[in-house]
Amino acid sequence: MSVVLCSWGDAIEGGTEEALSLAGRLSRDRGAGLDWLLIGNVTDDVTGMAARHGVAHIDRASASAPGPDTLVAMIVAYCSQHRPTVILFNQTLAARLVAPRVAARLGVPVVMNGFYIESQGSELEVRTTAYGGDTHAVYRLPAPVNVVSIVTTTLRVEAAPQPSVPVTREVALPAGGVTERWTVISAARSEGPRLEDADVIVSGGRGLGSAANYRLVRELAEQIGGMYGASRAIVDDGWVDSSRQVGLTGKITRPGLYVAVGISGASQHMAGCSAAKTIVAINKDRDASIFRYARYGIVGDCLDVMPELIKAAAAGNH
Ligand SMILES: Cc1cc2nc3c(=O)[nH]c(=O)nc-3n(C[C@H](O)[C@H](O)[C@H](O)COP(=O)(O)OP(=O)(O)OC[C@H]3O[C@@H](n4cnc5c(N)ncnc54)[C@H](O)[C@@H]3O)c2cc1C
Repeated sequence: MSVVLCSWGDAIEGGTEEALSLAGRLSRDRGAGLDWLLIGNVTDDVTGMAARHGVAHIDRASASAPGPDTLVAMIVAYCSQHRPTVILFNQTLAARLVAPRVAARLGVPVVMNGFYIESQGSELEVRTTAYGGDTHAVYRLPAPVNVVSIVTTTLRVEAAPQPSVPVTREVALPAGGVTERWTVISAARSEGPRLEDADVIVSGGRGLGSAANYRLVRELAEQIGGMYGASRAIVDDGWVDSSRQVGLTGKITRPGLYVAVGISGASQHMAGCSAAKTIVAINKDRDASIFRYARYGIVGDCLDVMPELIKAAAAGNH
């Protein structure tokens, strides 16, 4: 009986440590071992992170830029070799493609959008978000083997009471001549640092009134050394590039400071920023949902408030 977290790529994705922390707690509850499958060439300090969460084995499989079909084949091969009973994924965009297909190939249940998981006797209980984050659903899984994909935005990292001394094993996972069904012929443009890694983000929404007013968001972000994001409403309206979208179907961010300008605070938007340490909201509607999440709120017209904030930030920089 063991729990495995499956990861891949050349760097540790945001949310991995949170997923590992949850996996560690679950494995202690079940009295099961915890292994971490890493496919690719991750060069970050994985041993320290693994030790903090009680990982027994770091299972490394090499692969260069594997696509989803190759990843599915490799993870299925791993599961046939090691027979884990709980197969976990940190729900990145890529994991959404891979986790359900791994479950289908193994013939086991899959639960997506999990944010809490625990043992209930021999069963597994998984709490998930549903309907775009508007409600929660609870699944009881009696099957002996299950795949669960974890949304990590609301999870906290808690180290295991006893760190482990992880053993690294090189595992050979034949992908068996897989041909990827899709080929990336033109990757999305991404310049500079990633929004997902930013410590300060200023995001704008429809309350800005026009595409031209989005410059206020960019200016404040520049003055306070942050990056700029957007709600889906203004991405859909073509004011900003989709790479800036924060939320359920956009980027999942966890900055220290998130400034929401003219954003209502719909659950689908909050799914991408509610893990921020401090949220500041500017909205002219005092009943806007965003104020339920914000530590600091300014009720007012953002077209009046933003120039003042930009001026104050600029003065603070001199
Ligand atoms: C399946 C699904 C996935 C989705 N994924 C995402 C996602 O990833 N990201 C996302 O953002 N949304 C997502 N949405 C859309 C989401 O439900 C909301 O429609 C969207 O977030 C609203 O954007 P908004 O807050 O900018 O606009 P609105 O809801 O129109 O809100 C505008 C806000 O601005 C305020 N305002 C107006 N004028 C001013 C002013 N002058 N000064 C200050 N405040 C003002 C208003 O009071 C209001 O609160 C998704 C929806 C679905 C169904």
